[in-house]
Amino acid sequence: MKKLLALLLSIVMVASFTACTNSQDNSDLKDTQDTQATTLSNEDVNAETLDTDVLEWVDFAQYNLDETAQVKNIILMIGDGMGENIIKASEIVKGDRLVMSGLPYQTHVTTYSQSVTDGLAEFTDSAASATALSTGVKTYNKYIGVDKDGNKLETICEFAKGLGMKTGLVDRHYVCHATPAGMAAHTDNRDNYPEIIKEMLASEIDVMFGGGAQHYKDIKSVQRTASKHSYKFIDNEEDLLSATSSDGRLLGLFAYANMDRASMNPSLTTMTSKALDLLDNDKGFFLMVEGSNIDVFESAQDMTSTLEQMQSFDKTVDLVLKWAEKHPGTLVLVTADHETGGVVIPENATAKDINDSCFTSGGEHTNTNVLLMAGGAQSAEICKPDLIDNTDIAKYMRSVLSKE
Ligand SMILES: [Zn+2]
Repeated sequence: MKKLLALLLSIVMVASFTACTNSQDNSDLKDTQDTQATTLSNEDVNAETLDTDVLEWVDFAQYNLDETAQVKNIILMIGDGMGENIIKASEIVKGDRLVMSGLPYQTHVTTYSQSVTDGLAEFTDSAASATALSTGVKTYNKYIGVDKDGNKLETICEFAKGLGMKTGLVDRHYVCHATPAGMAAHTDNRDNYPEIIKEMLASEIDVMFGGGAQHYKDIKSVQRTASKHSYKFIDNEEDLLSATSSDGRLLGLFAYANMDRASMNPSLTTMTSKALDLLDNDKGFFLMVEGSNIDVFESAQDMTSTLEQMQSFDKTVDLVLKWAEKHPGTLVLVTADHETGGVVIPENATAKDINDSCFTSGGEHTNTNVLLMAGGAQSAEICKPDLIDNTDIAKYMRSVLSKE
C-alpha cells in the first residue's frame, strides 16, 4: 500500500512539473524578466541606480529634430567596429529597429587609411580612422592627429575650441585610447598613453570620461599636467552625478583599465548625460561619444557581449536624440570608424541565427563601408551623396560650424 501511495505521489509530482515547464504564459515570462532586472541592479551595490544603467534594448522611437537651425552643438557618436551588419543583427535579435536606424538621413562611408592606399595594411585601424574623422586627412595606421609625414593636423577639438566652443570626449576604453585620442592629440604612436593623455589635458578638453585610471593614478607627471590645467579628477559614479559646471574641467576615469562590460557603471548613457549637462553653453560644444567595446567583443567573436554593447550604445543614441529635441541647433552624427568581425547574417535569419558563427574575419577589421546616420541641425546635406569618405565627415563638421 505504501509503495502504491509513493508511486501515485511521484506520478502527480512529475505531471505537475511537466505542466510548469510547459507553461509559457505571460506571468512566467514576466517573472523571468523581473529576476534578470533584479540581478543586474544588484551588481550596482553603492552607486545610485538610474534607469540609464539598466541594460536592455531601448524602444524604437522617432524624434522631432529641428533641421533648419544653424549648428551650435555637434555630437559625434562612434560605434567602434560598428558595421552595418551588426546593426542589422541587433535588429533581428531585438525584433525591432534600433533607434539609430530611425535617424532621418543615412549614407555609406569608406574607411580605408593611408596604410591601405600604400599597400602597407589590409584595413584601417582605429587611430588612422579617428584622425580622418577628426582632421579630414588620411594617415597611416597607429598615427593620431598627424599626417603620413608626421606633421601635426588640427583636430576637431582644436577647431571647435578656436571658435570658443566647449569640448568633451566620452568613451568606455582608456580615455586616451585611439578614438578619443584622435579627436585631440598628435603622435605617431597610438600606444604612447602617458604622452597622449598629457596632451589631451594640456589642450584643455572640458570633459573627459572613460576608463584607464591607471594612466592617471600611476603616473605623477600626468597628475601634475592635470593640476596645471585645473582638472578635477573623479573616479566613481557618485562624484560624477554630483558634478556641476562650476567644478571646471573634469577628468573622470571610472575603471583602472577598460570599462569593457556594458553593465559597468557609470553606464555610457549616464556618462553622456552628464557630459551634455556640463557642456551646454551659449557658444556651443563638440562632444564625441564612443561605444568603444563593440569592436572589442567583435574581435573576440563574442556575439552575446557585442549585442550588450549595441544595447548600451543605442540607448545612448536615444538619450542624445531626446536631448537634441530640446536643444535646436544640435547636429547628431552616428557612425563607425570601421567594420570589425566581417559580420555575415544568414539568409532569412531569426534571432537564434545571430551567434558567434556570424563573425567571419577571425576577429579582424574589414574594409566594408560603414553607415553615417544623421539628424538635427543641417543633417541632410552630408548624406546627399550615396557614398562619402570618412574624411568628408571632418570637413562637413568644420563647414557647418564656420557658417555664422
Ligand atoms: Zn576601431
